[in-house]
Amino acid sequence: MSTVQLVPELHAFLDRPGQLFIGGSWQDARSGERFEVENPAEQRVISDVAQAGSADVDDAVAAARAAFEGPWRQYSPARRGGLLLRLADLMEAEAEGLAQLITLENGKPLGMARGEVASAVSIMRYFAGWPTKIEGSTLPVSPASGHPMLNYTLREPVGVCALIVPWNFPLNMCVWKLGPVLATGCTAVLKPAEQTPLIAIRLVQLIEAAGVPPGVVNLITGQGQRVGAPLAEHPDVDKIAFTGSTQVGKLIAQAATGNMKKVSLELGGKSPNIILADADVKRAAKGAADGIFYNQGQVCTAASRLYVHQSLLDDVLDELRRHATAHVVGPGLDPASTLGPLVSQRQLDTVSGYLQRGLADGAELICGGQRPAHLERGHFIEPSVFLDRQERSCVAREEIFGPVLTVMSWSEPEELVARANDSPYGLAAGLWTNDLRAAHQLAAQLKAGSVWINCWNVVDPASPFGGYKQSGWGREMSKHVIDAYTETKSVFVDLA
Ligand code: ADP
Repeated sequence: MSTVQLVPELHAFLDRPGQLFIGGSWQDARSGERFEVENPAEQRVISDVAQAGSADVDDAVAAARAAFEGPWRQYSPARRGGLLLRLADLMEAEAEGLAQLITLENGKPLGMARGEVASAVSIMRYFAGWPTKIEGSTLPVSPASGHPMLNYTLREPVGVCALIVPWNFPLNMCVWKLGPVLATGCTAVLKPAEQTPLIAIRLVQLIEAAGVPPGVVNLITGQGQRVGAPLAEHPDVDKIAFTGSTQVGKLIAQAATGNMKKVSLELGGKSPNIILADADVKRAAKGAADGIFYNQGQVCTAASRLYVHQSLLDDVLDELRRHATAHVVGPGLDPASTLGPLVSQRQLDTVSGYLQRGLADGAELICGGQRPAHLERGHFIEPSVFLDRQERSCVAREEIFGPVLTVMSWSEPEELVARANDSPYGLAAGLWTNDLRAAHQLAAQLKAGSVWINCWNVVDPASPFGGYKQSGWGREMSKHVIDAYTETKSVFVDLA
């Protein structure tokens, strides 16, 4: 096994204990508590980080409030856009170090981490263009008084935003939320996942270096219940944006009612991927395999339910077996690896539990299902494919968040849409076909925030992203996310 050499600055970064960033100063938690960050490929501690508590949450929210009411308000849109561009440049200049840091704490293959950094840079640049384009309108009102009346709308930043993000795309998830925060003139308290706080710390260091004023972005690290929960309940937070499990999303929504925070939620999925009878089998099966195994399946849009037309089932299963077994499972820093470890022992236990319960529920294992024999350490699991003829097993119905695909066959077009939509989730759906009419008819019928035709996991900052049903509230990216971080004020002027 070979290993990529870490960039020298990364060693220095890892040797410094991670701290909170509140009101422009790096500091320890008030309690002095810390927690360890592990490399999931080696199960080795790589750094330790401050464990914040509710007193630190209070401090961070107060700093974000002071910055919001203070000089940040006076920053012109062009100046905010300039800060975002500078930040994107700093991230790009350090792209390799950022990618290595993502791989170290999340586990994903370095090539994918590099892709995540490139995407994060382009998203920052996209949001850098927004501050100068957030505009209100003048409206043709008809007042009962008959007076001439001017009515116009102002778009104002919503205020202090709590950003609670997960570990699966630990840089991108911060950027998806910080981009619109900075573009709209809000301020933020960022809470990364406890599994991946390091990339957030490095990103916030770059935010500081880019010249973003103190208090505009604050960082608090630690466990969800100890930091995320008091943040979600905090009476001086105006908006909460959360990406994570549906279970925690429901807690966040409840916590937000105390002061009626605005809430954006991007939650779980069990996304249906459909292969029609006319599809190019090789291309569709490759797309299906990539759609589930990408990022070790730890993706909210993972293509985890595959509906294959009965006539293609055997061919597709052969192709899936070929793609699954071709994966090289290993540490993300080994250039040969195409599938890294799961993020944590807990995640491995969850996925292993599903593999066992799937069999017990009667699903047939086509390939995988084991921990790879050649790897002694690390949270590794083989990419796995089930066939479920009844579509009743837990692996056909529940979100697994691992590299586990469940295949079903279909033959009745009338039933297909109902089966695909029969899920509490509605994040993504896909289909593989060359039949233009069938493609667009199905796209209209699938209950999902993203529909991918002859592709999967295409995400672009210009296009909205979010879920139907229990996959979330609201949309990220695009002009839709600007609405989520702004209030609209209607101003009437009586001109009589
Ligand atoms: P996962 O189960 O995949 O780790 P979670 O939804 O638990 O996903 O975590 C996503 C984010 O939510 C993380 O930053 C985590 O610390 C945070 N979190 C977990 N529990 C809570 C909670 N009760 N309140 C607020 N945030 C939480």
